[in-house]
Amino acid sequence: MIDFRSDTVTKPTAGMLDAMMSAKVGDDVFGEDETVNALEEKLATMFNMEAAMFCPSGTMSNQIAIKCFTNPMDEVICDQTAHVYRYEGGGIAYNSLASVRLLNGERGILTPEMIEPEINEDNIHYPNSSLVVLENTVNKGGGKCYTLSQIEPIHNLCAIKGIKLHLDGARIFNALVATGNKAKDYGKYFDGISVCLSKGLGAPVGSVFLSDAQTIKKARKIRKVLGGGMRQAGFLAAAGIYALDNHVKRLATDHSHAKALAATLTNASFVSSVMPVETNIVLFDITPNLKVDSVVKALTNKGVLCNATSNKTVRFVTHLDVAAAAIDETIEIITKLNI
Ligand SMILES: *Cc1c(COP(=O)(O)O)cnc(C)c1O
Repeated sequence: MIDFRSDTVTKPTAGMLDAMMSAKVGDDVFGEDETVNALEEKLATMFNMEAAMFCPSGTMSNQIAIKCFTNPMDEVICDQTAHVYRYEGGGIAYNSLASVRLLNGERGILTPEMIEPEINEDNIHYPNSSLVVLENTVNKGGGKCYTLSQIEPIHNLCAIKGIKLHLDGARIFNALVATGNKAKDYGKYFDGISVCLSKGLGAPVGSVFLSDAQTIKKARKIRKVLGGGMRQAGFLAAAGIYALDNHVKRLATDHSHAKALAATLTNASFVSSVMPVETNIVLFDITPNLKVDSVVKALTNKGVLCNATSNKTVRFVTHLDVAAAAIDETIEIITKLNI
């Protein structure tokens, strides 16, 4: 099976497993796991942030960030497709007792002009707008990227209004590779950044929340309360360090694989349109005469796994466990497919 359902399906490579098995570990709840500490320091330095905290998942990183940056009764501003709103189980309400103001970005990309009118003025009737969350790349936007020049004016607006700015950077390295922007330039624009190690970077587990030292101190307490304080987590952090050292540059390969798939899909009989590809996600709409489940099933029957993301949209995600030969094979299958 060629598995395009998600970039989370990757399994650790032999090199990554070696790095994990030889990790030096300790009790991370005591702050004594040197590999976890090294991963946290590595990412904080990379993004020019003061401090960092290893988490079991991107959801936990984001939810802790939102808890740190809001008070009960506040409002979080984000795009209507945002992972923090759609795919984190209602966690903003449950964990932070906050409401959400949803915007209609262009493929999930927000602008200061969209955000500014949605910021509540100080009035007894209104929730306090305390946090803006951006997502880069935008998952539901088909892996679309923000560039730093689009982020800077949003940062400036938030700074003027006294609002925190958090980045859901589950696929931030895909955005960095695609835009050529530098990780170190990100730190000055965001109060918090979540980075996933278990997406395109290929680690089995893990996400890191980056922020200032005081926020990370608070975040460690919240992580403990949520049950996310892990003990010899260095075995997992070692996979993250290995991924950062070995799996970032190669994301460009996933991006060119995604573009090759998109080019083939554009001409396929069962496809009506393909969203322009910027990174490793391909979203396409099927022709109106077809049912999305039958398209997914026809591809699955030929050995190609993918996901329906709406009643007319199918998603392919490329990643390091789909090699060039499998892309060629998939292109042949798509070209010949009759539904
Ligand atoms: C995957 C993902 C996350 C985190 O998901 P986990 O499965 O909890 O690690 C967060 N944001 C986006 C945009 C994602 O795609």
